[in-house]
Amino acid sequence: MGTSVYTRICEDCGVVMENVGATRRFCPACLAKRSAEKARNADRAKRAEWKEWEAQRKVEQELRKAFPHPPKPTAENSIQAVNARAKAAGRSYGQQVLFERRQKELKDRGEI
Ligand SMILES: [Zn+2]
Repeated sequence: MGTSVYTRICEDCGVVMENVGATRRFCPACLAKRSAEKARNADRAKRAEWKEWEAQRKVEQELRKAFPHPPKPTAENSIQAVNARAKAAGRSYGQQVLFERRQKELKDRGEI
């Protein structure tokens, strides 16, 4: 019979453990303490993560308030209205959109 049991000293409290495996480092009491602490740390990490997430959400809310969605199409630039103007000018819808975009650009630059 090979001897696969060892005598080890707990790294935490120094208690002598007889007939234990080669890799045993802590006595059962210290093992329980360590696992409890691990659970506490995991809990703390989770709470910190949650807090961070909450803060991030708040920032996003502020940003949304500061930069609301662009206004919805008005009656004036609805597809139907643009299409009607296009028809009246003898253009296609796409041509009318490009034309109005160009006109707006020129107006913004003060060229017309
Ligand atoms: Zn111990």
